[in-house]
Amino acid sequence: MTDETLPTLRCANHPARETMLRCNKCDKPICVQCAVRTPVGYRCKECVAGQQAIFYNGNPSDSLIAGAVALVLGAIAGALAYAFLGFFGWFSFIAAIFVGPVVGGLIAEAARRAVRKRRSRQMKWIVAAACVIGILAGGLLVTVGPALGWGGAVADFTWIIPTVFLRWDVLLFAALAASTIYTRHL
Ligand SMILES: [Zn+2]
Ligand SMILES: [Zn+2]
Repeated sequence: MTDETLPTLRCANHPARETMLRCNKCDKPICVQCAVRTPVGYRCKECVAGQQAIFYNGNPSDSLIAGAVALVLGAIAGALAYAFLGFFGWFSFIAAIFVGPVVGGLIAEAARRAVRKRRSRQMKWIVAAACVIGILAGGLLVTVGPALGWGGAVADFTWIIPTVFLRWDVLLFAALAASTIYTRHL
């Protein structure tokens, strides 16, 4: 096949530009600048925007609901992790490696169901971040709570807060839970 058998295409958006590319969805000729590379081939910007509108069918409140679910469940998981992971001594790191992804998967699934499996662009980030904040907040509650006599005596926060955030096993647990959430289809 030679070049002569191919009709010269001109970009639909830039008539001055000759091109060899077509959008593989709507067949419109597009130049390199107008083409968007997708997992299923080159597409025009309009088709990509249309696909995203169908894929991301959630509304802004969905992200907030999913984030709130992750925050609450993360806080429960964080309180349990701070209370119990330490019992395993050095094995707490191995426990964190096993339990972190499982908890992250459960939180992602719970958040997904809370918004009836609708997706939105920022949901992954919001749910993963809310989970980490929840875990740290849960840890603060179980650590600071008793130290305060559950609100009674005045405690010196300057030593409590560093001990909460320097539990590497729990931080590893939080990181694994969050990264698992990020890999899920939210
Ligand atoms: Zn197209
Ligand atoms: Zn173009």
